[in-house]
Amino acid sequence: MPTAMRLENKRVYIAGHTGLVGSALVRRLAGEGCDILTVTHRECDLTRQREVEAWMADMKPEYVFLAAAKVGGILANDTYPAQFLYDNLAIATNIIHAAHRVGVKKLLFLGSSCIYPKFAEQPMREETLLTGALEPTNEWYAIAKIAGLKLCQAYRRQYGCDFISAMPTNLYGPGDNFNEHTSHVVPALLRKIHDAKLSGAEEVEVWGTGTPRREFLYVDDLADALLFLMAHYSGESPVNVGTGEDITIRELAEAIARVVGYHGSLRFNAEKPDGTPRKLLDISRIKALGWAATMPLEDGLRATYEWVRTQGGSRGRPGDAASSLVGWSAAHR
Ligand code: GDP
Repeated sequence: MPTAMRLENKRVYIAGHTGLVGSALVRRLAGEGCDILTVTHRECDLTRQREVEAWMADMKPEYVFLAAAKVGGILANDTYPAQFLYDNLAIATNIIHAAHRVGVKKLLFLGSSCIYPKFAEQPMREETLLTGALEPTNEWYAIAKIAGLKLCQAYRRQYGCDFISAMPTNLYGPGDNFNEHTSHVVPALLRKIHDAKLSGAEEVEVWGTGTPRREFLYVDDLADALLFLMAHYSGESPVNVGTGEDITIRELAEAIARVVGYHGSLRFNAEKPDGTPRKLLDISRIKALGWAATMPLEDGLRATYEWVRTQGGSRGRPGDAASSLVGWSAAHR
């Protein structure tokens, strides 16, 4: 693949390497022969400009994947608006500005499909950015992500920096956050349905009405897309990354029940928020560039379930492995 030639022997910084996307990038880049640079939160707090600038000046990365962010599901976004806005704005401005100062050759900023208006025409095209009001349950995160992609555009225009941005749809996979309060729907339901199976519970609560539609992309597919864009795309517009297909939350919950082997019933709690009614990306642009996702949803769910039952072990609750999924408490990303 041409990406290998592009990054071979290069100094590649993955910001957010312990997160869902960052850890998939580490896996994907492992065989590319590049020098992968990472830094822990303790060594360099990405929300502190001075620390970021010092670390970047020291390490001199040539390529940067900006996958560091404060993330969370619908409830977390609603509960911690200040952290979602401040942390994400600070991380984006600090890294993008420092990348310009140290002469990074190319930077890829990770956004999110929630940057598009709540009632954007579906599937959502890149051009619908800033054409309408955002979904209120995650506007804090969305505003910071919009600022990040605008920074990439501004630094390209003013300084000629090759900074691009990718907008992934809802992600899931190994390395996800399984914390019951802050997780997104896939890990949340994997956990709840698994626990219900073990305890013999007759029903599982699913938030909302079950009717919202979402598109889900396996995170290793995303990592592949990001390397592809790093090699083949240099433009001002963000590029959507998704599968092009969506399903209802009810269908997702049923698929997860099949993967887990749970035969009880699903109870939809309409008092919990539905969030935006539909979120499907238009993926024509990345398709035209020559990239497509390959992991079928149910296979990806199975792989994620397998991961959390096995690999998550080192970060799991001690002594709890027999009764609960070992990766559950890996939680915070
Ligand atoms: P969103 O895509 O930004 O809305 O984020 P989420 O992944 O958190 O939620 C997606 C949809 O799944 C929303 O309609 C939620 O109400 C629904 N959902 C159902 N059960 C759960 C759950 O246990 N946790 C979460 N986070 N969402 C759930």
